[in-house]
Amino acid sequence: MHPNTPSLKSFIPVDPASDFPIQNLPFGIFSTRNAPDLRAGVAIGEWVLDLAQCERAGLLAPSSQPVFDKPNLNDFIALGQAIWRSTRAQISLLLRSDHARLRDDVQLRTSALIPMHEAIMHLPIAVTGYTDFYSSKEHATNVGSMFRDPANALLPNWLHLPVGYNGRASSVVVSGTDVRRPVGQIKPPTSEQPIFAACAKLDFELETAFIVGANTVLGDPVSVHDAEDMIFGMVLLNDWSARDIQQWEYVPLGPFNAKTFATSISPWVVMMEALEPFRVAGPEQHPEPLPYLRQTGNHSFDIALSVDIEPANSQESTRLCNTNYRAMYWSMAQQLAHHTVSGCNVRVGDLMASGTISGTQPDSFGSLLELSWNGQRPVTLSDGHTQRSFLHDGDVLTLRGACHGKHYRCGFGSVTGRIMPALVNY
Ligand code: CA
Repeated sequence: MHPNTPSLKSFIPVDPASDFPIQNLPFGIFSTRNAPDLRAGVAIGEWVLDLAQCERAGLLAPSSQPVFDKPNLNDFIALGQAIWRSTRAQISLLLRSDHARLRDDVQLRTSALIPMHEAIMHLPIAVTGYTDFYSSKEHATNVGSMFRDPANALLPNWLHLPVGYNGRASSVVVSGTDVRRPVGQIKPPTSEQPIFAACAKLDFELETAFIVGANTVLGDPVSVHDAEDMIFGMVLLNDWSARDIQQWEYVPLGPFNAKTFATSISPWVVMMEALEPFRVAGPEQHPEPLPYLRQTGNHSFDIALSVDIEPANSQESTRLCNTNYRAMYWSMAQQLAHHTVSGCNVRVGDLMASGTISGTQPDSFGSLLELSWNGQRPVTLSDGHTQRSFLHDGDVLTLRGACHGKHYRCGFGSVTGRIMPALVNY
């Protein structure tokens, strides 16, 4: 039976509200206090299945060499789509209630299934490159309206190509990593000269990202029709942004220090195959894209997304926004085709982010810049008096994402991060 079959049941009880039913099976890298070596695992309900142990026991053999007893998923991902799919099918079988191999092997089951609260999660991939796109029309329109002209909010190129920039791979961190408020050059509107100071407009950006699963050759573009087969899976991504640093530095080459201090991703990579049942049409594209970007069919995904904030010394979190990936104007295949059309090669472990995902409603905007309209309309939190235009030290941000199917929920878990004070007070 296909691993996406809704009627599949695991011998491990899974709460219907869990992000990780047997139909999901996302891959991650974990360790435990007692076994500190990093290795690959799959999430099932409140448990992690240790794939390195399954591989050693001969239950999984995606390659002639071990690929799961590794500190990242890159070697497994490099095996290609056919192996991703056959391995997921084997894992699905091992976890099924009507399959005895793991279910009835008490010794292996006891050691290979780890309670999720005991698992320490690590970056799932060695990030070989990081690119950030800007593919939400609503987000680009909001930013253009705020800083340029509401009548001409989109720049002339926006409807013709997926705008993006090459980000910084070295500072991609896993969920739970503290994020230090950056310092840098800022030019206050009242000052003639820039000052050196801690960022006063620290923000989050609600994004998803896809992980490239193939190496390409320099000079060979990826066709928009082949691109989807090269994508291993997706994660949630928070593109932390220092708006005041950004505003001073970004002309003419785009963001630099305003974005490079940290980018957080969720630890579980949801395979594209698990997202297949949630495929939907993206928005219609007018004007029609140039031929190398033209696609027909359904190339977006129905992924509900949300952001919560919890200030320091507060037990109460506030929902800042609810939105959905499905309205993204440019598809992941179009982003990958455009990225490589110049001949730029990509590598296994390349991380490509969607850009801030905003909806049409004021409570569906994916950044505080938009939610507070650059500080003009501070957001009031659920205690009724605390307000936020931008992030304060101690704030904890949590991004969540899930596909809500008729029969089950296929989720991403979450990506969190706490804001630490700037290193020096200026
Ligand atoms: Ca971004």
